Amino acid sequence: MTRSNENFENFSMDGEQPYKIQNDYHQRAVGFLRQALEFDEQSNNKEMAILLYKQGIRELEKAVNLNVDPKDNRAVDLHTKMRKNLAMARERVHVLQDLLRKENAIPAKAQAVPPKPRHIPTKAQHPTPPHKIYSPPPSALPKFCYRALSPAIASSSSSSSSSSNRVALKPKQAPTHVIERKEVSSKLNDNAAAAQNKRPVLKLPNVEKKELPSKSDDDAAAVQNKQSLLNLPNVEKQLISYILDEVIVNKPNVKFTDIGGQERAKRALEEAVILPVLRPEMFTGLRAPVRGILLFGPPGNGKTMLAKAVASEAKARFFNITASSLTSKYVGEGEKLVRTLFAAARELQPSIIFIDEVDSLLTERKESEHDAMRRLKTEFFIQFDGVQTNSDDRILVLAATNRPFELDDAALRRFPRRIYIQLPDSRTRKHLLKHLLSKQEHSLTSSDFEWIANETHNYSGSDLTALAKDAAMGPVRELRVDQLKELSVSRIRPISRQDFIQALRKIRPSVSPSTLEKYITWDRQFGDGSS
Ligand code: ATP
Ligand code: MG
Repeated sequence: MTRSNENFENFSMDGEQPYKIQNDYHQRAVGFLRQALEFDEQSNNKEMAILLYKQGIRELEKAVNLNVDPKDNRAVDLHTKMRKNLAMARERVHVLQDLLRKENAIPAKAQAVPPKPRHIPTKAQHPTPPHKIYSPPPSALPKFCYRALSPAIASSSSSSSSSSNRVALKPKQAPTHVIERKEVSSKLNDNAAAAQNKRPVLKLPNVEKKELPSKSDDDAAAVQNKQSLLNLPNVEKQLISYILDEVIVNKPNVKFTDIGGQERAKRALEEAVILPVLRPEMFTGLRAPVRGILLFGPPGNGKTMLAKAVASEAKARFFNITASSLTSKYVGEGEKLVRTLFAAARELQPSIIFIDEVDSLLTERKESEHDAMRRLKTEFFIQFDGVQTNSDDRILVLAATNRPFELDDAALRRFPRRIYIQLPDSRTRKHLLKHLLSKQEHSLTSSDFEWIANETHNYSGSDLTALAKDAAMGPVRELRVDQLKELSVSRIRPISRQDFIQALRKIRPSVSPSTLEKYITWDRQFGDGSS
C-alpha cells in the first residue's frame, strides 16, 4: 500500500480529509506548474521549466494515486482534472526534452544555459516584464493551451469549498493571472472585455439561454465566433482559422422534414439533443442529456443528414469534422486540432461536435498502430471526458459510422446512446421517391410508386437517389445529340414507369444481405433499441 493510500484509509471515516489530502497535493502541483509555465513561456530556461513540470507531475501523481471516494463529487471531479493535467504536463516535458535534444545536437550554436537558481523563484520575485508578454517566439509556446491546463489551476486558488471550486472550474473564467497579463495589452484587454460581456448570456447554467443568432444573423454570428475564439489564450491562430473556415457550420441547410423515415431515430435525437438545448432548466440532474451519441448503420441512409438537421433545429453551434481530416494531419497537428476544437466548442456553447466517419479515429487499438494515432485517440478521450465530467458544459459529441463493428470498447463506453440508422422500409422508400420526383415532370401514379417501393427492398437512401437520377435520364437518353442541343426543356417527355424499369436493372442495392445481418446483430448487442 502506498503512503497515499494509507492516508486515505486512515481518514476515510472523515468525509472531508481524503479530499483535503488530494487537494493539498493538487495545490502543491499547481504551484510548480504555474512556475513551470512561466519559465516555459517567457524565458529560454527550458531546463528550469522541465524541472518544475517534473515537480508538479510528481505531486499530481501522488494525488491521482489516492483512492477517491466515488460518492464525493468534488474529489472525483478533481481527480479527472488532475489526470488530464498530468497527461498534458507529461506531454509538455517530452516536447521540451525533444527540443533541448535537438538544440544540443547543434554544437556550433551551443547556447549558454543560464545557471539554475538555487531555489524556485516566486512570481513576486520575478515579475513579468510587460514588454515580454505575448512575445515569445512561436516555437517556444507551450503545446497545450494555458486554459486547458488552467481549470484545475484556477480551482486551486485558495478555496477548497465545493461551490467556489465549481465557480473556479467554469471553463470560461480565465485564471486571474491570465487576466493580469491581458491588462498589459490594451488591444487584448478590449477583446477580452468584449468576450466577457458576451459570455454570461451563453454560459449561465440552468438559465434559459438566449436563442443563438438566426439565419439572417449569420454575419454577426461569424464575427462573434471569431472574436470569442481569437480570445482563446495560447491557441494557434492557424488552427482557429481552420476551425472558423472549415469546421463551424453556421447554417446547416437540412431540416428533419427533409429526411424520409427514421422516425424513431429522429425522436431519440430530439429527446437527447434538441429539447435539452431549448429548455436547459428542464433537463438537469437525472434528466441531464447524454454527452455522446453514436449514429451507426449502412452507408447512405441519412446519418450525416440527421446530424445536420439536429444542428439546425437545436440552434446549437455545429462543429463538423471528419475523423479522417484529423488523422491526416501531420504528426502532432491532429492532437492540437482536437484540443482547439473542444476549446472552441466550450467557448461557443451550446455546441455539437459532429465527428463523421468516427471509425477511422476510434478503431480498436492494434499492436501495429502508429504512436501518433494512439496519442490522437488519447487526446480525443481526454477532451471528451472533460466534456462528460463538467456539468456546466453544454457540448454534445455526435458521431457517425458505417463500421460500428470496428469501434473500440473505450470508444463505445463514451457513447452511451447508439442509434441504428437503418435502411428505409417500403413506406419510407415510397415517400423518398415521391420527394425525389416532386420537382420533376413525371407520369407516375400512386400504384407506380407503390410498385417501385416494393421492387427496391434493401435499397439505401442514396441507392434510391441514384435510381431516381438514372430514371430521370431516360427521356434524355432517347434524344439524339442535335435534338438535345435544340429542344426546349419543357418539351422533354415526363419520367415514366418504363424509365424506372430500365433503371432498376442497372442500379442495385449497395449493401449486401450478409453485411446487413452484421448491422442487425451489432444493434442487438450494442444499440439502444430506439430503431
Ligand atoms: P455514410 O455512412 O456513407 O456516411 P450516411 O448515412 O451519412 O452515409 P447521408 O450522407 O446522410 O448518408 O445520405 C446520403 C444521401 O442519400 C443524402 O445526401 C440524400 O440524398 C440521400 N438520403 C439518404 N437517406 C435519406 C433519407 N432518410 N431521407 C432523404 N434522403 C436521404
Ligand atoms: Mg455520412
